[in-house]
Amino acid sequence: MVEGVQQRALELFRRLARQAPRPALDRWLAARLREAFALPGCPLCRLLEEKERRLLPALLWEQVNDPATAARLVASRGFCWEHAWALVPAGAAVHSHLGVALLLERLLRDAYRTCPDQAALDDWLRPRAPCPVCQWLAEAEQTLLQGAAELLRHDPLLLRTQPGLPCRPHAAALFPLLPAALRRTWEARCTAACATWAPDDQLAHAFGRRPWALPVFSQPPEHCPDCSAAPSGDGRLWQWLGTAERVVAQPAPAEQCLGHACQTVPGERWRSDLRQLLDDLAAFIAAHDYRFRGALTPAQRTSWLRAIARLVGTVPAAGAHERRAPPTV
Ligand SMILES: [Zn+2]
Ligand SMILES: [Zn+2]
Ligand SMILES: [Zn+2]
Repeated sequence: MVEGVQQRALELFRRLARQAPRPALDRWLAARLREAFALPGCPLCRLLEEKERRLLPALLWEQVNDPATAARLVASRGFCWEHAWALVPAGAAVHSHLGVALLLERLLRDAYRTCPDQAALDDWLRPRAPCPVCQWLAEAEQTLLQGAAELLRHDPLLLRTQPGLPCRPHAAALFPLLPAALRRTWEARCTAACATWAPDDQLAHAFGRRPWALPVFSQPPEHCPDCSAAPSGDGRLWQWLGTAERVVAQPAPAEQCLGHACQTVPGERWRSDLRQLLDDLAAFIAAHDYRFRGALTPAQRTSWLRAIARLVGTVPAAGAHERRAPPTV
């Protein structure tokens, strides 16, 4: 008797669940997407860029000394190439690169302490977790794609009448969620508009948004000869790197990034180079104490920037997240 009642209740629940309407689009998300469609460029890239530019300064502002963040960053071996270089503008946004120095000093010290040789360094450079910023942005991207698809199904005119136009990678992710007519609309708009786009707009349309920061080749903090000699790769980061300034104004000291250091034979110099960088970073950090009197050397002043170059290299080829899985959009 009781079992029969339970069976009927379960049946009823299943029937109601099948009839349940799709969850309504979040009003705040819909408003943000509408605002982004009202501006030129890809609305999804725009919102992801905004999120990225809030996340990293917030991390530098609030979480540098948080033990859970420190453990997470050791697991991921810091950030991917794109987000390691984004620490340059993120530090500027919080008016100090002390947070960058503290985060990277901890990581590089871990590499120095736990890697007596190249084989150990090669193993250390295998991330145990994804880049945290990439992970946060991937989750946000899924929400934005679902939201944009829902919005466009309700209001297809957005794609016809508003300046915003999804870039090719985001359009490809949206098409399976949209009626075929909207795909034809997108293609017609691309054909009509692409002749008027500037080169950067064309690149953003074909490959996705420009990274927040690219290494400034005219003022290299140091220079990894293997990064400079690396053949160009494919994908968004390499495409945008091709537009970066590459004039070397003055000779920079040659110091290999960690990814290339573990491929060189013989490879003992990386440990003494890393020891020197750790000393410079310690001096840079100590100089932020209000009791500090004295002056930093140029190498100590730029140590936080050299730490980025040492950890991920100046091209997206040898960092922990890039050397086995080339970056894609
Ligand atoms: Zn896009
Ligand atoms: Zn990343
Ligand atoms: Zn390198």
